[in-house]
Amino acid sequence: MEANKHEIIKCTSCGKEFKFYNIVGKCPHCSNWITFECKNCSKTISAEDYIKNDNRCPGCNSPVSLPGTDTVIYKKPGEQMGKLAVWVVMFIIGLVIVALVRRC
Ligand SMILES: [Zn+2]
Ligand SMILES: [Zn+2]
Repeated sequence: MEANKHEIIKCTSCGKEFKFYNIVGKCPHCSNWITFECKNCSKTISAEDYIKNDNRCPGCNSPVSLPGTDTVIYKKPGEQMGKLAVWVVMFIIGLVIVALVRRC
């Protein structure tokens, strides 16, 4: 097994290689959806069909991973949402404490 931190993705449309998506599933060079093979049924899937099908193969409906989706870009939105949720909860707790203190 190679210990590559970032998988190099080769665009199936223009043939150029890249490490990160600007839009997940789209080649940053030519803006076309990349295609890849399902390891389960060997069907060639377009990243667009794969994302529309809830990150599953549209042929056999088994979970497959888009090449390079374990990159930082893919994980970022979830982490930001988690931090925001913590701040919202802390703000609500703060309001409740202020309301309780004022009652006394
Ligand atoms: Zn391309
Ligand atoms: Zn499949």
